[in-house]
Amino acid sequence: MPVNWGGQTIYISVVWGLIFAGTALLLCFIPVITAYKRLAEKIWACPNCGHRFKPKLYQMFTLHINNARMLRCPKCRKADWHSYSSYPIE
Ligand SMILES: [Zn+2]
Repeated sequence: MPVNWGGQTIYISVVWGLIFAGTALLLCFIPVITAYKRLAEKIWACPNCGHRFKPKLYQMFTLHINNARMLRCPKCRKADWHSYSSYPIE
């Protein structure tokens, strides 16, 4: 990398800095995403109407306390604390 290019050198280092920061951030998110994917494969039960459903992955990125998650039920449209069960969908 040329040293005496002034602004050009600064521009190149900013780009590389962003690439490294992005890669580091991505690597940090991989275990989170795999854990969330596993959660999205589980059956979640609505505490309001008892409806069981498989949520979308993006729905896992929500408020959560331990195993309970703030989800919106696709049947009764009520947002409440859902918990997952290992029972299959009936
Ligand atoms: Zn419901």
